[in-house]
Amino acid sequence: MTDDGFSDDGFSDDGFSNDREGPTVSCERCDREWTLDREVDDLDPGSHAIEQFALDHERHTGHYPDGVTPWVARCDRCPDGERFLSERPARRWARTHARHTRHPVRLEPPRGDPEVVSAGDEEDGS
Ligand SMILES: [Zn+2]
Ligand SMILES: [Zn+2]
Repeated sequence: MTDDGFSDDGFSDDGFSNDREGPTVSCERCDREWTLDREVDDLDPGSHAIEQFALDHERHTGHYPDGVTPWVARCDRCPDGERFLSERPARRWARTHARHTRHPVRLEPPRGDPEVVSAGDEEDGS
């Protein structure tokens, strides 16, 4: 007879999500909260799963969940552009596009001023 876990008294939402659960993501616009499965990511605790989730969420709903603000890399000259959830790939994309096309790319960080990356602006490597 195993009926533990089915009793719903005593287990409210409080203090429930910190321990063995994965990271949680909430979205104010959807008025929802999700717990991510920690086993999804084996690299970086949390961030990878959140990133996946956020990208997915954006694909379905057109917005990112709370606390997730993308880096936006957008070309000034052509309709090319991408959104990234971390700086490094955003910069890499901007630099690559600038180098290949010689277009200046505007890079908008989640907070702060946008910057423009243009070809030859930055020496890569050492
Ligand atoms: Zn949402
Ligand atoms: Zn371009």
